[in-house]
Amino acid sequence: MKTVDEHLEAILTAIEPIDSIELGLLEAEGGVLTEDVTASHPLPSFDNSAMDGYAVRAAYLSGATAWHPVTLPVVGEVVAGDTGAYAVIPGTAVRITTGAQLPTGADAVIPVEWTDAGAGGRPPGAKVQVRRAADAGHAIRHSGEDLQAGDQVLAAGTVVGPMQIGLLAAAGRGAVRVRPRPRVAVLSTGNELAEPGSPVTMGRIWDSNSFMLTAAARQAGALAHRHGTVPDDAHELMTTIEDELARADVLITSGGVSMGGVHDVVKDALSGLGSVEFSKVAMQPGMPQGFGTVGDDRTPIFTLPGNPVSAYVSFQLFVRPALSALQGTDPQRLRTTRAVLTDPLPSPAGKRSFARAVLNGGAVTPLAGQGSHRLAALARANALIVVPEQVERLEAGEEAEVMCLP
Ligand code: AMP
Ligand code: MG
Repeated sequence: MKTVDEHLEAILTAIEPIDSIELGLLEAEGGVLTEDVTASHPLPSFDNSAMDGYAVRAAYLSGATAWHPVTLPVVGEVVAGDTGAYAVIPGTAVRITTGAQLPTGADAVIPVEWTDAGAGGRPPGAKVQVRRAADAGHAIRHSGEDLQAGDQVLAAGTVVGPMQIGLLAAAGRGAVRVRPRPRVAVLSTGNELAEPGSPVTMGRIWDSNSFMLTAAARQAGALAHRHGTVPDDAHELMTTIEDELARADVLITSGGVSMGGVHDVVKDALSGLGSVEFSKVAMQPGMPQGFGTVGDDRTPIFTLPGNPVSAYVSFQLFVRPALSALQGTDPQRLRTTRAVLTDPLPSPAGKRSFARAVLNGGAVTPLAGQGSHRLAALARANALIVVPEQVERLEAGEEAEVMCLP
């Protein structure tokens, strides 16, 4: 038997990051940059106004107060988007809107609130009464104050999220090189599986794993697609997997990997497609695990156990870190903390166990119904209590390691 850590280590060693591609900004969302992006222009690219008001020469207004206002002729107007050449000569003002280029000769913007808003009509011939002086530089956004041309906008390795997309767009980039979100194909094996929403006859069950694992892969940042169910037929499973290889960076199957079952066809199907190692991992739930690569591109495949809780816990322990490794970033693992048990918890000797539990502040309560088929208990849990291999029982009041479920 392998330990949980050995199995994860083997997976992470085998995973090679997917190729990077150039993608438009929204397609790159969730991707990991593989280039250092530098600024081709300063940001902002020109001096502009931070407020609606009047562009002036500050020195000319130095004495202005509410009691002694200064009146200036308004010689023009510049609004955001205007591309002409504008100038302020000392002793005059140009009406200006937020984001409009600062006229040459101006060194401050007087907010409209500090004036009579130009009661004298529209320029030319207009006048504005200014009731407060400003220092040079007031309400001006200087060219390059966010980034200078040549500065690093974002470093390779950065995850492209909404804020980074905003910055890339502001810096004028329409596309970037990223390792995109990995594409994951999920399928369930089992003759007993029926489609939720359709009737089941006695002896059959609704497929839950492929839905749950597809959702979990999406939650972990992948572009996951549910293929659905495949019967326990090695040939059909093999052709399905071959077909899915064309559109996936990772494959996940569930079921059909128990040790020695004659109907456990996953091994047979995969023996012709690649090299997948089936092993027992010293854990509960989730002992039978398989991992390897299939197809010409050596696409990673996880063959997870069929019991739904086992499949889910296996996903979080093994697939989640692998998905980030595929994007070339540090493997993301579930956050862990420590908490005090409210109730005793037995645990199998020689296996690391992951008990479904409710974490509430510093206290953690194991849920009733730890069977690895018991989805209702799983769905009530927000945490897994991790009990080490050599520990066979934790007492109430003892502190334990707890993994927080996403
Ligand atoms: P297996 O690993 O195929 O032997 O399956 C172990 C147990 O998990 C059996 O009780 C299966 O019926 C159940 N199981 C397998 N696949 C699924 C699935 N996709 N959804 C729900 N239960 C499943
Ligand atoms: Mg089965």
